[in-house]
Parts: sequence; C-alpha cells; structure tokens
Amino acid sequence: MRRLAILGSTGSIGVSTLEIVAEHPHRFQVVALTAGRNLALLEEQIGRFSPIMVAVPDQENARLLEQRIGSNGPQVLYGTKGLMACAAESPAEMVVSAIVGAAGLEPTLAAIEAGRHIALANKETLVIAGELVMAAVAKSGCKLFPVDSEHSAIYQSLEGHRRRDVRRLILTASGGPFRNWSIDDLCGVTAKDALAHPNWTMGRKITIDSATMMNKGLEVIEAHWLFNLPVDKIAVHIHPESIVHSMVEYVDGAVMAQLGIPDMKTPIAYALSYPERLPLDLPPLDLCRLGKLHFAAPDRKCFPCLDLAYQAIRRGGTTPAVLNAANEVAVDAFLQEKIGFLDIPRVISMVMEGHSCTAVDGLDKVLVADAWARQMAESVIDDIQGASYA
Ligand code: NAD
Ligand code: MG
Repeated sequence: MRRLAILGSTGSIGVSTLEIVAEHPHRFQVVALTAGRNLALLEEQIGRFSPIMVAVPDQENARLLEQRIGSNGPQVLYGTKGLMACAAESPAEMVVSAIVGAAGLEPTLAAIEAGRHIALANKETLVIAGELVMAAVAKSGCKLFPVDSEHSAIYQSLEGHRRRDVRRLILTASGGPFRNWSIDDLCGVTAKDALAHPNWTMGRKITIDSATMMNKGLEVIEAHWLFNLPVDKIAVHIHPESIVHSMVEYVDGAVMAQLGIPDMKTPIAYALSYPERLPLDLPPLDLCRLGKLHFAAPDRKCFPCLDLAYQAIRRGGTTPAVLNAANEVAVDAFLQEKIGFLDIPRVISMVMEGHSCTAVDGLDKVLVADAWARQMAESVIDDIQGASYA
C-alpha cells in the first residue's frame, strides 16, 4: 500500500490520478489532497478517498469547506503553509505534484527535501528552478518520476541502456490546434479556438501552452534537467497523432520509443507504481486501424515560443524562470481577452530582453526573478492594450 499526497487534486492530472487510485484501491491510500477553488469537487474527493489532511488557498475557503464536510472530516489547512504541510508533513511516501504553474515549485521542493518520492506533472518546477530541484533530489535521495507523457516515454526508452550511449532525445509534439495555420490565420485566434486541443483534454493553461508550442519549449527545459543532457541534444518533432510519446536515439542509430493512445493515465500510473505496470482500463492502441503516423519539423516562425524556451535555457541562470513567469501572465491575459494569440510570444520576448540574468544560487534568486517578470509582463500587456485602443 503506497501512501499518496496529491497536490492539485481537482485538476486534470489530479482527477486522472484519483481514477487510477479508485481502480487500484489495494495499492494506494490517499493521505492528503490540495485544491484551488473547486470546493465541491474537493468535498466529493474527501468523501471518496478519506484523506487525513487537505489544503485550500485561503482561510475563507477553509471555513467554507469545514462547514460542508462537518467535524468528522480531515484536518483542513490553508495557504502556502497548508500546501507545504500536505507536501512535506503528511505521512505520504509519494507526492503527486499536479498544481499548475509556479505555485507548484515550493511545495514540490519541500516534499523533495522531506525525502518524499515525487510523481512530477508540474513541469514549471523544473523550468524555474531545475538546478536547485535536481540538487535537492540528489541530496535527499528521493526518486523523481516524470508524469509528462514525453518524459515518461523517454524514461521508459532509457531503461536498460547506458546514458553515455544516447545521441539525442526526440520529444514529440501534437502541434496543437493550429499546426498548419499561417501567421495571418493566427492573428485572429480566440481563447475558445485555442482551448480546443485535438488530442488531449487538459487544464486551460497547458492547453494554451500547447497551442503556442510553449508547452514543448517548457518540456525541452524539463528534459534537459531530468535527463542531464544539453539542449542541442534535445530535438522536437511534430507528430499530430500523439501516439509516439517521445524517443531516444542511440549512438548506433537505434531509436527506442514508447507508444500508446493519448491518455495521461498511462504515464501517471507508471510514475505511481514504478517499476511495476498497473493494468488500466484503457482501449488498446490499434495501429492497423490508424494505418499511418506522421512526423514533421516544427514551424518555428509561426510558433516562436519554442525558440524562446531554447534561448532561455541557453542563457541559463534566472532566464528560464523569467520565461515561465512572463508566459503565465501572458496566457492569463490572452484567456481574459486582453491580448491576442501572437502577443503571447511578443510579451515573453520583451520581458526576456529586459532581464539581467543572474546565477541561481538559492530559491530567493528565482522568486525575485519570477516576481520581476510578472510585473514587467503586466506592464508590457498594458502597453499593448493601450496601443490597441489608441
Ligand atoms: P489544471 O488547471 O487542470 O489543475 C491544476 C490544479 O492545481 C487544480 O487542482 C487547481 O485547483 C490547483 N491550483 C491552481 N493554481 C493553484 C495555486 N495557486 N495554488 C494551489 N493550487 C492551485 O491543470 P492540469 O492540466 O492538471 O496540469 C497540472 C500540471 O501538470 C501543469 O503543470 C501541467 O503543465 C502538467 N501537465 C498536465 C498534463 C495534462 O494532461 N493535463 C500533461 C502533462 C503535464
Ligand atoms: Mg507533455
């Protein structure tokens, strides 16, 4: 029986994780759950999985939740302290890090420092502070399992092979809903268009990141830290069917890949139960019915976010944290219809240009850079809005 804490249990990854737990009740026990504002779903999850500890964003939501669940429920905590307690003080052996964005960094780091194994969905943690996080993993001796489907595929394709025999990693990308669109077409994209991903059902932020291809850029940085390879050895192929989840090319030309239908339950379950494989109630991959799989190079002109991410990790230091923060603010502004789709890379690029990069020798450096980039992004967005009204 493995004890789990799930950070972000009401999100897309959190819900899929709990579906796996429900399919395998004798394998997992949920000891802690944390959620944003979806109290109704959290209440339902508490009733079903009986955690001993839960955390919500603030005192008001904690009070509301306590009223809903009565006095026999779990301990209800709130704020950063509550998140940290669920991550590092609950009796969990493994923490599923499935909060979206930079908010996932500190609880994930706390869980690592407390020696909990991590199933990592929150890629932003590695983008913002990869160096610190990997050092903390090495120090605590915990295991860090990727949940991101590409990184899980690479993890699986590396099993049984020597790292020094790797020539390069190939991350696949669906290309999102605008794969074959021109710059002119992209000008008029609305949030509704961008939220309609062809293959995956995910949270709103990652769905927009997939449409801009920033998601793949963040994943290149994530792969760099997870697999300790320079980014020149990490390539991206567009693969619209999302069947080949990623590949490892070896020095003898052999390419190992992991395939499957696009369902996050497979990589989540692999992280939860490694080295075992859990039977899952998913339809099998039917390659004969599919007939063909396609691959292409990404269109770097229409989707400049990919190169912005390569640039950020090449500059190093605090630059990836700045890229990430500017992206979070820009995506939010796009979802609120304050800026257009093509303004997202514009905002990020302008914020990156204004940044004086420093080395990351502690968490404070990253947090200061993140806060600076958010402020700067807001001001660039104000200017863009001002210009469009003028
Ligand atoms: P989501 O928006 O569906 O869920 C996010 C969860 O985090 C929710 O429970 C929400 O309440 C909580 N949350 C959001 N902001 C918070 C904050 N400030 N403090 C505390 N909790 C907060 O997101 P998702 O699609 O499940 O993605 C979660 C993470 O997993 C992201 O980092 C994403 O990039 C990564 N990921 C997701 C998928 C996918 O298929 N959804 C695939 C690969 C990686
Ligand atoms: Mg992915």
